[in-house]
Amino acid sequence: MDEAAARPALVDITSVTKTYRMGDFDVHALRGVTLRIAEGEFAAIMGASGSGKSTLMNILGCLDRPSTGEYFLDGAEVSRLEADALAEMRSQTLGFVFQSFNLLARTTALENVELPLVYTGLRPALRRARAKEALERVGLGERLHHHPSQLSGGQQQRVAIARALVNRPRLILADEPTGNLDSHASLEMMALLQQLGDEGMTIVLVTHEPDIAAHARRVIVVRDGLIERDSPIEAGRWTEAPRQAGHPAAPVRVASP
Ligand code: ADP
Ligand code: MG
Repeated sequence: MDEAAARPALVDITSVTKTYRMGDFDVHALRGVTLRIAEGEFAAIMGASGSGKSTLMNILGCLDRPSTGEYFLDGAEVSRLEADALAEMRSQTLGFVFQSFNLLARTTALENVELPLVYTGLRPALRRARAKEALERVGLGERLHHHPSQLSGGQQQRVAIARALVNRPRLILADEPTGNLDSHASLEMMALLQQLGDEGMTIVLVTHEPDIAAHARRVIVVRDGLIERDSPIEAGRWTEAPRQAGHPAAPVRVASP
């Protein structure tokens, strides 16, 4: 048994389907997905447009329920929970990062990060201290009082990561977190997610870019509502085609004349 399999699964999904009714048609967005993600894993979900990535993320994130199948999140069966209980599960267990940052424009970085704590009953001074700590963790300790418009795209997404971390979630879900970033900021974002992964945070991210997925430790490829491929990444490398055993990514050699 490998190291990840020996740990209890934080996410434990069995035979999950999701069917949307569209007029007279049934759209089978997920057709039987079984997936386990252990505490501390950093997984990327890839797949073509329409393959079911967002549907899977919505179920993972307790934003939607499966049509059939089971979902245990942190040991609790959540697939039949009502909306209120799902919302509770979300606020206690999950942190979300979106492609479009979703920050409040007229509000400082610190206030943006504090927002998820406003309804927790924590004292304001404690809220502020936690928000500051989360911003320091993403390298923005010097930008606490900046508004989003005074920050670069990469910095704004780091504020969003701090906001996702401030509730001390068990799992971070990121849907195309680099989708609005240039390549330099994307690399910085992936380095930050790797750092959080190294610190023990469990992360699931959706991306359609193989270069981005290659920074995760595991790549799950979804196709037509099914998991088509699920493979670990050795030493931060992943390629579209499986490599032959015993032939790790070799440096490219340029033939000399
Ligand atoms: P992806 O995120 O990989 O692009 P989605 O999970 O958004 O894929 O969609 C998977 C399939 O389910 C697609 O055929 C899509 O049209 C359909 N679908 C997604 N959401 C809905 C919905 N709310 N109502 C009807 N069909 C939907
Ligand atoms: Mg999608």
